Amino acid sequence: MPTYHIITIGCQMNISDSERLASRLEQAGFKKTDNKYGADLVIINTCGVRQSAENRIYGLIPGIKKENRKAKIILTGCLSERKDVRRRLKKYVDAWLPVKEILNFKFKILNYQRRGNDNFGNQDYLSIQPKHDSNFSAYVPIGNGCDNFCVYCVVPYARGREVYRSAQEILAEVRGLVKRGYKEVVLIAQNVNSYKSPIPPSPPLSRGGDFADLLKTINDIPGDFWIRFLSSHPKDMSDKLIKAVASCEKACPQIYLPVQAGDNLVLKRMNRQYTRADYIKLVKKIRKQLNLPSSPFIKGVIWKPPVSITTDIIVGFPSETRKQFNNSVKLFRQVGFDMAYISEYSPRPGTAAFKLVDNVSPAEKTRRKNQLDKILRQTALANNKKYIGKTVRVLMENQTKVGKWFGKTATGKDIRFSAKSSICRAGNFVKVKVTGAKEFCLAGKV
Ligand code: SAM
Ligand code: SF4
Repeated sequence: MPTYHIITIGCQMNISDSERLASRLEQAGFKKTDNKYGADLVIINTCGVRQSAENRIYGLIPGIKKENRKAKIILTGCLSERKDVRRRLKKYVDAWLPVKEILNFKFKILNYQRRGNDNFGNQDYLSIQPKHDSNFSAYVPIGNGCDNFCVYCVVPYARGREVYRSAQEILAEVRGLVKRGYKEVVLIAQNVNSYKSPIPPSPPLSRGGDFADLLKTINDIPGDFWIRFLSSHPKDMSDKLIKAVASCEKACPQIYLPVQAGDNLVLKRMNRQYTRADYIKLVKKIRKQLNLPSSPFIKGVIWKPPVSITTDIIVGFPSETRKQFNNSVKLFRQVGFDMAYISEYSPRPGTAAFKLVDNVSPAEKTRRKNQLDKILRQTALANNKKYIGKTVRVLMENQTKVGKWFGKTATGKDIRFSAKSSICRAGNFVKVKVTGAKEFCLAGKV
């Protein structure tokens, strides 16, 4: 049996695509191996969002080809259609596979005999049943692509326009996962909250067919499981959706709301379609509605933590002045994020911003990044200290050493804790008393 090895670079969407690709490969008669130097087929699932992610493949792919001469190399993901990347790597790569073509990929071109069904017609690749890495937590893509065209971002070009899956297909996937004992489903899309049912909504999605309706319908699936979702575009974070999150007991109080900049002019030049004041108002609204003490999340002694807010922000966007950056600094202090992914601006070929002069120096970008990171550490620590002495519900993930476990709270906080072996199993919910807090991790005891 020929073997395959997948290397995934980038976001949750890429991880999820790789799980679908793995399933497709196994259906076609390939067997997984953990050894990239021994595999017959090595698939690199690439990311083109930042230059640093792109650069990883230029060392990686020639290195694999050198150590594993017989391997056939397939390049998929964001960079698979970039002409300059194709030119640069053509002597190492045997096939280029745009993600949407996973289903109809012809293994014959690599001289591998295919097995199984090869007539998928116009079926979308998201309909492939994935081979999940975890047996208790699963990514469930609800759509792909983006229509927003933020000027710095490659996604609308690399992944195309927004396409959403039908609620029926999503619900069938979630029901299947819950039946198999999954305890966490993570709904993903470039912007989950732009979801629109691609077909007229019908029962059980009998309401308008937007993301709030989808969330409520998934929440109605019987079983003890958590629903997370990411990420949410601030312009599409409707009152209806905030209310839905507040009323769905399975929806985790964790909102991933990328801000990208704290200055109005920069936001406008980025084409983000909201102002700094809109963002701050939105955060206040989310906190007010999701921190209700009457939430059904409180059961027995379990404390319902305040909603956690995560963001993405870019520093050193072309012509971002110190003064404009200071507005991002102020926003960070004002909001008090629990987590933030801070990126130095990276010019991306094909985007509108690529034509702008990348005139903030690398040293200044790093300085700005460090400044925001310092504030994030302060606010995250202050937020985490509120957990000390409280008992929270935790989903166990894995064992670190004998008697020590690692898991996540509903708010997405990492927590390390000690527990007796009798209740220890990855995928179990446990009650943990929090005894300590660091910036990005809690400590506790079952
Ligand atoms: N859809 C989400 C949103 O509305 O913000 C974000 C998805 S994007 C693929 C992931 C993150 O990569 C962005 O939030 C942004 O912070 C970062 N990013 C995208 N393009 C970038 C660029 N050219 N330079 C630096 N960071 C970038
Ligand atoms: Fe990229 Fe903007 Fe779309 Fe997010 S909303 S994926 S940042 S274009």
